[in-house]
Amino acid sequence: MTLALLDRARAVVFTDLDGTLLDHESYSWDAAVPALEALKAAGVPLVLASSKTAAEIADLHADLGLAEIPAIVENGAGLFRPGEEEDDDNAYRSLRRALEVLPKELRVFFRGFGDMSAFEVADITGLSRDAAALARTRQHSEPGLWAGDAATLEAFVAALGAQGIAARRGGRFLTLSFGATKADRMAEIATALGATTSLALGDAPNDVEMLEAADTGVIVKNDHAPPLPRLTGEDAGRITRTEAPGPAGWNLAVLDWLGALDQNRFGLTQSEH
Ligand SMILES: [Mg+2]
Repeated sequence: MTLALLDRARAVVFTDLDGTLLDHESYSWDAAVPALEALKAAGVPLVLASSKTAAEIADLHADLGLAEIPAIVENGAGLFRPGEEEDDDNAYRSLRRALEVLPKELRVFFRGFGDMSAFEVADITGLSRDAAALARTRQHSEPGLWAGDAATLEAFVAALGAQGIAARRGGRFLTLSFGATKADRMAEIATALGATTSLALGDAPNDVEMLEAADTGVIVKNDHAPPLPRLTGEDAGRITRTEAPGPAGWNLAVLDWLGALDQNRFGLTQSEH
């Protein structure tokens, strides 16, 4: 079978941030600089895809030199479009209103970021107070702590579901949104960029849809979390795992992928590999 000729200029990379492009502890991406520069040289757009808010991601996006490339924020519930003053928080306000009309016996067990001060968010996330204030600047989703039992949680989730709201458990928080995932945004962005092939990198359960939806997926090793269960694409070799954690693993995986694109571009067939 001859592989389709793939043009690097029509490829796109989607990446999670924490524990993937950014080191779990230091938040540094230094180890990924060679691959970041190679992407830039090849004209391949890098799309950040994070649970962070637009307010949280803006500085990092600029530091990475991503210019006009959009980013997926709040786990796919929203998009960050650089240069566009987007302060539309209608979805977030709808979520907060939906919480307020829940029966008190359900509502009382959920404490969202909107119920907390920046001090409290800083305390439970380990973020600085300024960073916590940016994390509270939400437009599309509401993370919070659940303090009730499993049966009450089920009733809480069902009551929100009746209003079109999805609740998703990720790490420490239960996050409410109108249901989009990182993967839902990928197709939208790939189309907008005119991309015909994609690479996605991530390390956690909230990256799984994105890894499965991309043409090539890379699970970046994270020594601070339980490993992801085996994904469907792994058997076919479409999804692989890095040996090095965080940005070091990211770097090698992206350079490998770019190398493979070049090979395909020069028209090698699978039998010639
Ligand atoms: Mg992550």
